[in-house]
Amino acid sequence: MSGRYDVIVIGGGIFGCAVAWSLARRGVGRVLVLERAEIGSQSTSRAASVLTCVAGHAAKSAIFQETWDVMPALEQELGEPLGVHEVGSLHVARSEVNKRALDGQVALAAEVGEVAVEWEPERARERVRWLDVREGDRSLFLPRAGYVDSYLFATAYARAARARGVELRTGAEVHELRLEAGRVTGVRADIGELEAEWVVNCAGPWAGVLSAQVGCHLPMAPVRSQYWITEERGEFDTEQPMLFLPDVPAYTRAEVGGLLFGLRGGVSPARDPRALPSDLGALEFSEDPEGWDTLAAAGGVFSSFFPLLESVGLAHYVSGPSTYTPDSDFILGACDGVEGYLVATGCCGSGIAASGGVGRALAELIVEGVSSLDLSRFSPDRFGELDAFDPEWLARCAATRAAKSVC
Ligand SMILES: Cc1cc2nc3c(=O)[nH]c(=O)nc-3n(C[C@H](O)[C@H](O)[C@H](O)COP(=O)(O)OP(=O)(O)OC[C@H]3O[C@@H](n4cnc5c(N)ncnc54)[C@H](O)[C@@H]3O)c2cc1C
Repeated sequence: MSGRYDVIVIGGGIFGCAVAWSLARRGVGRVLVLERAEIGSQSTSRAASVLTCVAGHAAKSAIFQETWDVMPALEQELGEPLGVHEVGSLHVARSEVNKRALDGQVALAAEVGEVAVEWEPERARERVRWLDVREGDRSLFLPRAGYVDSYLFATAYARAARARGVELRTGAEVHELRLEAGRVTGVRADIGELEAEWVVNCAGPWAGVLSAQVGCHLPMAPVRSQYWITEERGEFDTEQPMLFLPDVPAYTRAEVGGLLFGLRGGVSPARDPRALPSDLGALEFSEDPEGWDTLAAAGGVFSSFFPLLESVGLAHYVSGPSTYTPDSDFILGACDGVEGYLVATGCCGSGIAASGGVGRALAELIVEGVSSLDLSRFSPDRFGELDAFDPEWLARCAATRAAKSVC
């Protein structure tokens, strides 16, 4: 295979598919997605798929809000529902510090035009029957939040992109970015040498390996995320709000009759991206392999909110790498001194929620030269020169994941 494309997107995870669809919607003609495995089969299919809307700061929240705005457009284009559960998120804080921290959520929601409502403990108890909300706890409800099946979401972007003329090649691996006089002019893939005006690196946890070839070390590392799903119980219905419990810290949502819960903090191992297997199914973490230490450390506080934890069976454990940056911000845009090349990664565990905004941002950079979203905090160069494979750097990114709060 050979040829010249307007844009080659490397990686058919949710970022690559969202970027391809956003480009096609803006009339970009020849777009090719190269995916060495199957569409949405790697980090994307492991996600807990929690879709938040208000998080971090206004620029980050705008990325998430865009996902909520594009989901109806995608549904309309495909003529079928995405199966989004818009159940809202309930944030329940117990300690004084965490209760005060919810003021930040209220302020940010107001800043970005989202609703945040204080709930009495009684109301929280009524909506989430298994939750032990105590007098004095603070409960804040944000209606525009929910969850979706991440694999279906990614493949929906991909199908809509294909319907608009995007070429999707699976089983197609990129080995090299072709660099000529400071410009990326295409890729060397196992299906041939391919030229493009633009190459967009959406290779997820592996993105840093390709990027280093052109001297752009990405400020991130693949760090383990993990969650558990309990056995099926009548208490967990699919329309309950998702929960965020900063005192644990934990998040929960209903899943196949059970309760899915993720615990932050604890052991958060990072990996040198060069050492990742090309299929995450083969990735093993020797450090606290099934998260039992994390569970044991958080279990006491968690069961004070979720007393059933003491007796409920755990049916599933899911883990995989998310790409964490030291400042918890994404990596979106161009690298200094390299033309024709853009990067979309550094998901910090929220790439499903961010996909709509990421797609729009990258497509606008290509079509208009500038994005209407504020990308100033997401520059790939913001940490200056670094060695993304250095063990100290990997540890720094892992520490961000370990310290990640849930608000
Ligand atoms: C346990 C867990 C829980 C999570 N929970 C959530 C959540 O609740 N909410 C949320 O928003 N996010 C969550 N995430 C994060 C989310 O999964 C990621 O942010 C998202 O999937 C990133 O998508 P991606 O396209 O960047 O990466 P990926 O899905 O990994 O896609 C990258 C693709 O690039 C391909 N590729 C790599 N190298 C090459 C190459 N050289 N040539 C061709 N193809 C290549 C890979 O095969 C892969 O398919 C979670 C992640 C994990 C692991």
